[in-house]
Amino acid sequence: AGRLDAKVGAVYTVDQGTGGPVLEFAGGFAFSPGTDPSGSFELGEGLVGQAALDRRLHVLRDVPSDYLRIVSGTGETRVRNIVVVPLLVEERVVGVLELGSLLPFDNVQQRFLAQGAAILAGAVESARGREALAAALQQSQQLSEELQVQHEELRATNEELEIHAQALRDSEERLRAQQEELQVSNEELAEKSKLLVRRNDDLERATGMLEERAQELAAASRYKSQFLANMSHELRTPLNSLLLLAQSLAENPQGNLADEQVEAVRVIYDSGRDLLNLINDILDLAKIEAGRTELHPGLVTVDDLADRLRMSFRPEADRKGLGFRVEVAEGAPASLVTDGKRLEQVLRNLVSNAIKFTEAGEVEVVFRRDLGAVDASDAASSPSDCLEIAVRDTGIGIVPEHHEIIFEAFHQADGGITRRYGGTGLGLAISRELARLLGGEIRLRSEPGVGSTFTLVVPLAPTVAVPGQEGVGIADLQGNRLEQAASRVATGVIPDDRESIRADDRLLLVVEDDVRFAELLVRKCSEKGFKCLAATTGEEGLELARKHLPSAVLLDIPLPGIDGWAVLAALKEDMRTRHIPVHTISAEDAGVEARRRAAIGHTTKPVDLAKMEELFGRLQDIAERDVRSVLVIEDRTVDRRAIVELIAEKDISVHEADK
Ligand code: ADP
Repeated sequence: AGRLDAKVGAVYTVDQGTGGPVLEFAGGFAFSPGTDPSGSFELGEGLVGQAALDRRLHVLRDVPSDYLRIVSGTGETRVRNIVVVPLLVEERVVGVLELGSLLPFDNVQQRFLAQGAAILAGAVESARGREALAAALQQSQQLSEELQVQHEELRATNEELEIHAQALRDSEERLRAQQEELQVSNEELAEKSKLLVRRNDDLERATGMLEERAQELAAASRYKSQFLANMSHELRTPLNSLLLLAQSLAENPQGNLADEQVEAVRVIYDSGRDLLNLINDILDLAKIEAGRTELHPGLVTVDDLADRLRMSFRPEADRKGLGFRVEVAEGAPASLVTDGKRLEQVLRNLVSNAIKFTEAGEVEVVFRRDLGAVDASDAASSPSDCLEIAVRDTGIGIVPEHHEIIFEAFHQADGGITRRYGGTGLGLAISRELARLLGGEIRLRSEPGVGSTFTLVVPLAPTVAVPGQEGVGIADLQGNRLEQAASRVATGVIPDDRESIRADDRLLLVVEDDVRFAELLVRKCSEKGFKCLAATTGEEGLELARKHLPSAVLLDIPLPGIDGWAVLAALKEDMRTRHIPVHTISAEDAGVEARRRAAIGHTTKPVDLAKMEELFGRLQDIAERDVRSVLVIEDRTVDRRAIVELIAEKDISVHEADK
């Protein structure tokens, strides 16, 4: 500007904008940006843009006065002449120079400008290059810094990785060690499992053997029970007749026996009774041990029990000159639910032992509420749930070493003493088993020479399941009795009245395989005014019953072939015979079972004279009751009529009710 005497000037450089090259204002000479055009031009825009586009120097003279101004401290003037020069590097526009002067630019000046523009363009270009270089340098510095950071990060990561790798190596090492340990324990395990398999095999073999043994044992125990049942039946059958005959002989009805003979018969009777008791005891024990004892729990009144003991044992105690007291203590339970018969059986044994083994002094029975539990481990029975019955005597007592053994079967404290006192040594064994069956126990306190106290403790209500209810009963076992036993009696033919029966006779049918006893019964019948039919087998009995329709049937339970229960069932199933009263007889106390099966009553063998009288008394009663009454209650008239017609017979009076 100085050389050309220009008063104002501006330089624009090309920038590569996003929308194409743009000429940006880069600097000015005496330029006043507030009033002069500055900013940017696109190619072809304005004089500046045009010079860049056509790459030519433009000279303007006498431009309008408002175009460029020369501003000084004292005022301002408008330039009149303008030159616009494109700055080219190898035909490429890098910028535009604009100068304004008051005087027109002459040719020399224009040439100077054209040449100077090339130098200027080179300077701009190199400045641009430097700038780009600086930027690139800065960028590369920045990148190198970033690289440095990344490198640092990488190093850190590397270190971490190294640590991890080390940890991995460590755990790999550990794993390897563990694997080795595992290998070892695997081998041990395999060894152990082999051992286990061998043990299992051994165990299985042992279990198999045990099972076999158990089966053998069960079979042996079954055979034992069966044998005992058979044996006691075989023993009791002749005893039954023997006792009955001895008893009637001892009564000496015809007065033809001498006193010694009567005494001898009494001895026979007493010995027979003892034998029978022994057989009953053995059978009782066998049944209990085989778990075949049936319990019949019911309400038992303590006062009644005490009364019965008082009545039964007072005479014996009096005879021995002993004091005898039965006391129900205050606070004792009034009643309990248990098998009354079994309970009484145990008590009778304890009291009769107490009297037997006491020569002087007294025997006392006290009923009281139990103070200690039957069994501490058995939470079901708390102390107050039990009745305690203490039987105390002032007898010979028992030495401590015998306290356990006397409860074993056939064990007596002293053979010598026992011979003096008599007995079999079964009573306490049976009593203890029965006490257990009732859910209780027997305790003993005794001192030789001072006396003994046997205490029976029983729960007030059954705490144990009643065993043997479903099993094969001893009666069933008797059904399978030995063949020879069956044939021995079945062949017997008993002379009876079958040839002389008339229509209006009172007819009794006796079914009994013991020929002698059957004969006794036949004789008794004719004494009592009955005609009698006798059968020794169930089959024959049934046939006779169906043929003759007797007034009553006396039926033995164990029979060869079909047993008494089967005969009873067959009679009750047959419309023609179901009304005939049946009375059962057997060595077992099967009264409950008999009534359940619709028998009118049951007599337990041995049948003594008193029982025989009672039995025939009942039969006579029934036979004399000519007319029986039946009440039919049925709301449907048609049905009621049908029933009445069905049961109406000459000796049945039928009453009807419809509600
Ligand atoms: P048994 O009385 O028939 O011999 P038990 O089994 O009833 O059989 O009794 C076994 C034994 O226990 C008796 O022989 C006797 O030695 C002893 N014993 C039982 N009760 C008493 C008692 N009250 N006093 C002394 N000894 C007794």
